[in-house]
Amino acid sequence: MRVGIFGGTFDPVHVGHLQVAEAAESLFSLDRVYFVPAGRPPHKQSLPHASAWDRFAMLVLATKGRDRFFVSTIELETEEKAYTVDTLAKLRALFGGDAELYFIIGADSFEEITTWKDYERLFSLANFIVMSRPERSLEFKHLPPSLREQVMELSAGQTARPERGHRIYLCRAVSNEASATAIRDAIRSGRAIDGWVVPDVAGYITKYRLYVNIDEANIRSENETSHTQHERRPVDCH
Ligand code: ATP
Repeated sequence: MRVGIFGGTFDPVHVGHLQVAEAAESLFSLDRVYFVPAGRPPHKQSLPHASAWDRFAMLVLATKGRDRFFVSTIELETEEKAYTVDTLAKLRALFGGDAELYFIIGADSFEEITTWKDYERLFSLANFIVMSRPERSLEFKHLPPSLREQVMELSAGQTARPERGHRIYLCRAVSNEASATAIRDAIRSGRAIDGWVVPDVAGYITKYRLYVNIDEANIRSENETSHTQHERRPVDCH
């Protein structure tokens, strides 16, 4: 079985996310794609704006009617920060050795991958599908040589089939400008978000009055002492 794992804050889930998941599903013939909302994302400076329950509910609404898309609670079930490497190790054990795991990530997040906890181990736990994002370059120069040689670049329209020796696929299949930050900004300033989220998600946001009264600058994690907060767990923890 080929399983896609798509991690993110999904605050809220938008059409860009769905397009990324659809492209990955069809390019790599994935049997399932699991959306994995983060409880407390280790690599973001601010805490999510909507609660875990709301983000989970919006994901369920956004994926309803798509038989191959599932929403996982694996990172919501713990009070601890969940690091991707730990989540992938758990999923690896859960699905068993026969499953091929594909971690799905946007170009902007991939730019920062070397700051994630145990990032080199990530690539031994899953293949990587890195999806293009407007105004972000699809780069891999930041990877060490041993990982660079596992990169395969797919041109737009190319039908991917994993080849031996390649585990990191750079895909130019998506060009979608949706961003959760821009959507939250629009809601706060009373602008329409039609087209950026699916109608059920838009209805949910309106009904539960999400994102109307937030101040992006003032919502910080309590742990924010440095300029950026990376996935890498500080050495004095564990
Ligand atoms: P924010 O604006 O708050 O940073 P976001 O729109 O990037 O949020 P996330 O939940 O942080 O949403 O993203 C989850 C994953 O989806 C990340 O790997 C991100 O790079 C990717 N992603 C999000 N939007 C797009 C998009 N429009 N095109 C390609 N990848 C995307």
